[in-house]
Amino acid sequence: MDHQDYIMRATAGDGSVRIFAASTKDLVGQAAKLHRTTPVATAALGRLLTAAAMMGATLKNDTDILTLDIRGSGALGGLVAVADSKSRVKGYAFNPHIDMKKNAQGKLDVGGALGLGVLSVTKDMGLKEPFSGQVELISGEIAEDMTYYFAASEQTPSSVALGVLVDVDYSVKQAGGYMIQLLPGASEEMIAHLESILPTLPPVTTLLEQEKFDLMAIFPNHDLQILETIYPQYYCSCSREKSQKALASISREELVEILAQDKQINMHCHFCNADYTFTEIDF
Ligand code: ZN
Repeated sequence: MDHQDYIMRATAGDGSVRIFAASTKDLVGQAAKLHRTTPVATAALGRLLTAAAMMGATLKNDTDILTLDIRGSGALGGLVAVADSKSRVKGYAFNPHIDMKKNAQGKLDVGGALGLGVLSVTKDMGLKEPFSGQVELISGEIAEDMTYYFAASEQTPSSVALGVLVDVDYSVKQAGGYMIQLLPGASEEMIAHLESILPTLPPVTTLLEQEKFDLMAIFPNHDLQILETIYPQYYCSCSREKSQKALASISREELVEILAQDKQINMHCHFCNADYTFTEIDF
């Protein structure tokens, strides 16, 4: 069956609730292939990429960049995901090939793979200083950590759910998530409604099996409005030219020294694994 990733952006309760619902199977699958991740690393990276894609859709300007960065004490070491305002994402895991036993619930142990650590969110909006917030990991399962981040750092009560289902052949069977946020002005009735309905929702991957998120079922009689559909994708904008420009920050003496010793300079892109090699001729 053909599949295309999407993010539905919607509001409910007269604009007092904003909703993002994402299906990201293709882009997570692409990330898994690119980085040859083991299932637990696929789940971890896929969840963070999905969160980044949805948060990217909240950026205002074309040039804004969002970075989600997790550093953990576990075997996975950490994760990075970057998104732009068009929900084009890229990312990597520090140790993509780790093997982990499943957790007590028989699920991929993302929390165990990340261990104790810190989640950092950076929004570069072209200002002098980027916006940056940090929280300690609550569970390392990422959705819970994102929920905590929104409450602690952005004062936005949110419900974040993320899910990645990895098949026996290591391919990605389902991936996606949703993010529901209460904005100022949300009624008591709406808050009560969310508090009662959210805990009853099945896991994200089960919702995804039904092909499209049925937001109408979550927000019946709540003035649900689908605002737009966004098509997220895995995208790395690196190039040989950009890599060469980055080398400009190295002093001429240093460049000469490296070239004399190694005959070449290699620039590796962690996001897409491209290698750019420069020799004396390039300078
Ligand atoms: Zn790249």
